[in-house]
Amino acid sequence: MEQMYCYKCTKCGKLHHPHYVVCQNPDCDGREFEKLPLEGKCKLLTWTRVYNLPEGYMKPWLNFGIVQFENGVKASGQIDFDDIENGMELVSTVGVVKEGIGSDHYGFIFRKA
Ligand SMILES: [Zn+2]
Repeated sequence: MEQMYCYKCTKCGKLHHPHYVVCQNPDCDGREFEKLPLEGKCKLLTWTRVYNLPEGYMKPWLNFGIVQFENGVKASGQIDFDDIENGMELVSTVGVVKEGIGSDHYGFIFRKA
């Protein structure tokens, strides 16, 4: 089972996603991070629908959104349904986000809560 993570600075506690080399807190220079699962409930901040997908996709469009998790971390991923509204509650899952030619990639897929 694939899993997505956020990274907690061991010096100041700031959460990051994706992973950074140096803490993004301007008052901190931490370089060590604790890896924590990033999953569960989240809220949709904004989204877009992308047409003209690269060759190999078997869909006319894909929906992409940016969500905020309950711990404050923001992340982007696909949305697996079409009646989307900003601010709605979602649940994150992890799955193959590229269905086209080449290797599979794992990423967030957001579903209705
Ligand atoms: Zn820090």
